[in-house]
Amino acid sequence: MDLASLKTEYDVIIVGAGVAGLYAALHLEPATKALIVCKKEKTKSNSSLAQGGIACVLDLVHDSYDLHIEDTLIAGRRENKLDAVKELVTEGPFDVLNTIKHNVDYDRDENGELLKTLEGGHSRKRIVHHKDTTGNELVTKLVSAVTKLPNITFCDMTMVTAVKKKFGGFMTELLSGTEQRQVFSTFVLLATGGIGRVYKYTTNPSVATGDGIRFAYEMGASIKNLSYIQFHPTAFNSDGREQFLISEAVRGEGAYLLNVNKERFMDRYDSRLELAPRDVVSKSIIMESRRTGSNSFYLDIRYKDKEFLTKRFPGISEGCLQNGVDISKDLIPVFPCQHYLMGGIETDLNARTTVSQLYAAGECANTGVHGRNRLASNSLLEALVFGRRAALDIERQRKLRIYKVHPESMPSESYGKAPLASGMRTEIREIMQKAYFVIPDQGAIHEGFKRTNEILKRLRTGGFSITAEYCEAISIATVAFLILREANE
Ligand SMILES: Cc1cc2nc3c(=O)[nH]c(=O)nc-3n(C[C@H](O)[C@H](O)[C@H](O)COP(=O)(O)OP(=O)(O)OC[C@H]3O[C@@H](n4cnc5c(N)ncnc54)[C@H](O)[C@@H]3O)c2cc1C
Repeated sequence: MDLASLKTEYDVIIVGAGVAGLYAALHLEPATKALIVCKKEKTKSNSSLAQGGIACVLDLVHDSYDLHIEDTLIAGRRENKLDAVKELVTEGPFDVLNTIKHNVDYDRDENGELLKTLEGGHSRKRIVHHKDTTGNELVTKLVSAVTKLPNITFCDMTMVTAVKKKFGGFMTELLSGTEQRQVFSTFVLLATGGIGRVYKYTTNPSVATGDGIRFAYEMGASIKNLSYIQFHPTAFNSDGREQFLISEAVRGEGAYLLNVNKERFMDRYDSRLELAPRDVVSKSIIMESRRTGSNSFYLDIRYKDKEFLTKRFPGISEGCLQNGVDISKDLIPVFPCQHYLMGGIETDLNARTTVSQLYAAGECANTGVHGRNRLASNSLLEALVFGRRAALDIERQRKLRIYKVHPESMPSESYGKAPLASGMRTEIREIMQKAYFVIPDQGAIHEGFKRTNEILKRLRTGGFSITAEYCEAISIATVAFLILREANE
């Protein structure tokens, strides 16, 4: 993107083009001038990788809002914010149906009715899906809809390096290649997604470095429950940092979880066996690895028909094949890894943060809907509901006309000339993997907290030049520091 072609001032800047940012953009009024920015390609996000689907109650005969609310509270160990859960569950169906108007294609039966599937923790079949590539379908169609809007400027391959509260609104610093640019706005919506890259192994793509959480923290916003992290039990076990997810729908269809001796073992830990909630299965795998002295675990779905497997799980079948595993013939090697952040930037029911005119939605926000543990397929729903609510609240605030920005150009911050010292990001990831992975290690948390604090100080004062790598390093260090500080309390 040529940054020189951008305007200096917008009404709203949306940082992030996952489902939360895109769906918010669709709910701004035509007179509202907005800029939506994403670091890499428009479709590179956690949203695009979502496999299972979106949970929502569309059948009030066999299902009910109360049941979905109760399932969400059970998964969240009742640490959820009840009013936020109610909004999520009762408004979610509207938003899911609304995405169909933007051409999102969900799987249907022979009568044209939406197909709904079951996932762990849900008491009813209520997950709508597009094969096992729901996120990709959703993002592609929403990107296409947003791109058509004349009031929205879509700026991809551009990193927001800083957001500052200034001049009655915000000053946002952009970086594309080596080109820097400042833009101003009355409102900012942070929709920057997850924090997976704070860990050595994660299902999240490279963009998930927690930048929005850092910006909010630097502006003094309240950050809550950052240590509420979900570890998915069954990611494809490979050497790469980004682990390919083997959705729990595979266990839902009957796959067995096996240890190094190719034996089922879940009965040692939980009566729900393979269909126990994610955190329980992840913990069971770690306990079993300590018992057997091996990190080798497998999913076995070989007894199902090949045709069924390729039709039901085309993305997973293909992804495994690319890694040399034919799921109809071979065992799938799996191990837990970081997957999702429940906490984040504290927001109210309208996605407002504790900083005036600053909003947050999607995975970077702590709306309180997930409590201690997210119910499967509730996060795309959260991104839709609270992305929309953020946009509608911004429109209400705009009509009040009480905010006016008076931008002045400022020298872009220049931190220095030194290239980012190598090894700092790797060290943080090693610390997090050791201290705060599935079963926390209190001694390592204490040590890790001290060390991440030192690394963060060095990053801030080391005279490093502003590059994408430097900005991501400072985000990773800030997020790790905040997680370990909370875990250390
Ligand atoms: C493998 C996988 C499978 C999943 N499956 C499901 C599922 O089946 N159902 C479900 O409900 N949830 C699922 N989830 C979770 C869900 O996909 C995410 O929680 C949700 O999509 C997050 O959406 P988001 O809009 O908040 O963030 P994201 O989709 O992650 O988007 C973040 C955006 O922010 C941009 N960004 C970040 N930092 C910057 C910066 N500094 N400058 C500019 N741009 C920036 C990124 O480029 C990206 O565009 C899954 C997640 C993963 C990883």
